[in-house]
Amino acid sequence: MKAFTNTNPRDLAHAVTLIRDARQAGRSLAIAGGGSDLLGMMKERLVTPDVLVSLRSIKGLDQVKAAPGGGVTIGGLITLDALSKVAIIRERYAVLAEAAESVATPQIRNAATLAGNVCQRPWCWYYRNGFTCLKNGGTTCYSITGENEFHAIFGGGPSYIVHPSDTAPALVALDATFRIVGQTGDRMVPAAEFFAPPTVDASRENVLKDGEILASITLPPARKLGRSTYHKIMDREAWTHAIVSAAVVLDIDKGVCQRARVVLGGVAPIPWRLPEVEKLLAGQRITPELAAKAGDAAIAGARPLAKNGYKVPMVRAMVARTIADVADRGLRNAD
Ligand SMILES: Cc1cc2nc3c(=O)[nH]c(=O)nc-3n(C[C@H](O)[C@H](O)[C@H](O)COP(=O)(O)OP(=O)(O)OC[C@H]3O[C@@H](n4cnc5c(N)ncnc54)[C@H](O)[C@@H]3O)c2cc1C
Repeated sequence: MKAFTNTNPRDLAHAVTLIRDARQAGRSLAIAGGGSDLLGMMKERLVTPDVLVSLRSIKGLDQVKAAPGGGVTIGGLITLDALSKVAIIRERYAVLAEAAESVATPQIRNAATLAGNVCQRPWCWYYRNGFTCLKNGGTTCYSITGENEFHAIFGGGPSYIVHPSDTAPALVALDATFRIVGQTGDRMVPAAEFFAPPTVDASRENVLKDGEILASITLPPARKLGRSTYHKIMDREAWTHAIVSAAVVLDIDKGVCQRARVVLGGVAPIPWRLPEVEKLLAGQRITPELAAKAGDAAIAGARPLAKNGYKVPMVRAMVARTIADVADRGLRNAD
């Protein structure tokens, strides 16, 4: 590992100052949450900062608080384990609690922060093994003609990575808003606009500029009749990312779906929303037949590579099953 200076800001303003000072001194920097991903990348010399800004020293940014106008604001430094245990998240935003508790292992969930989970870099083996791919400053995505079993079937090109975060599809499905803090102040960005496809900048996965901090995430008020869940398929029982996952939020009133959000993970360079499936469900009573139709509609735009065609039937089944599960929860919980 390259030698670096560790800094521990007291608050966000101090973090911004440390970042500005490092920049002005011509020093490269990295921002750490729990460090569960970043420190491994530093050891492998995939990331070689002169200065590490370690946000864990900031007090109070690990809380879930009531947001003005309803809803909740979640500090970016809350660990995934703590988040998955907060009563209001479990009761009203189950999709997020379930996504958080599906990540990796208890040890990683105890260290990993929500912001770090959302901002983690791709786990594509070409990138992680130091190939000069699009993510490493090169001009080629080696997965197109190479080993692409775990790569994108939607939205690929020029990079075919899949977005690795389990919490990201849940946050998009919940219409979350991200608060970003940087040198020019704060900005609020809807979750769906935070993640950026590789056509925008193939070296990045989101709209964060260098040195910007994801400070907190606000969830809108949970609609009274909203039900949600997160389902995930992995290539082994634990410790790993999704091959295919689905975050589904449905508002069901007297058995009829008023509004739907269906977002996939593990299949595209960004959390992959399915607006056509959402339209198919809105205004309808969710039956097993409609859930199956939604599964068929989900795969309409799939463009598998040579070795990942197996994901297509998985998406169809996952979407149908997850919608049926949420609808069933809605009926069971109906007054
Ligand atoms: C064996 C293993 C299995 C895994 N399985 C899964 C899985 O099933 N699902 C899943 O979702 N993930 C999985 N992961 C990834 C893991 O969840 C991430 O390592 C973790 O969530 C990162 O959180 P962190 O707080 O430790 O981030 P860090 O390691 O500190 O940072 C990760 C990245 O985010 C950036 N960053 C961190 N915080 C901020 C911030 N506030 N603002 C801006 N940028 C920031 C860092 O600069 C870095 O690029 C796995 C990892 C391992 C090692």
